[in-house]
Amino acid sequence: MPTLFERIIAGELPATIVHRDDRVTAFLDIRPAAPVHILIVPNKAIATVNDIADEDESLMGHMVIVARDLARQQGIADSGYRLIVNCNSDGGQEVYHLHLHLIGGRHLGPMVQRA
Ligand code: 5GP
Repeated sequence: MPTLFERIIAGELPATIVHRDDRVTAFLDIRPAAPVHILIVPNKAIATVNDIADEDESLMGHMVIVARDLARQQGIADSGYRLIVNCNSDGGQEVYHLHLHLIGGRHLGPMVQRA
């Protein structure tokens, strides 16, 4: 079963794509948590951080470089932003296709609530 994000990458489901290259696709989150909320997704299906292979090292770096460039394009590089990767249940992962959240455009507050 292809993941939701594989279907977006394949053009089978609609999304507002803001970047695409041979390794990653970036699109707007459907339920944005802030004025800027972009998902940067590897084109190849990797379920979670636990499934990243050693040979994916440069792909992971590329995802961060794309996030950096999108932050500049969105005008939030100087005001700041947050990059998040959720993993599995306790991490709050909903879609099991690895993705980097780029979130900004407002003051985001503390990283997580302290118990
Ligand atoms: P996770 O919790 O897995 O780290 O984040 C999944 C994200 O995917 C959520 O922020 C959610 O709003 C977003 N999302 C879920 N379904 C869709 C969809 O069909 N289209 C888009 N663009 N985003 C989605």
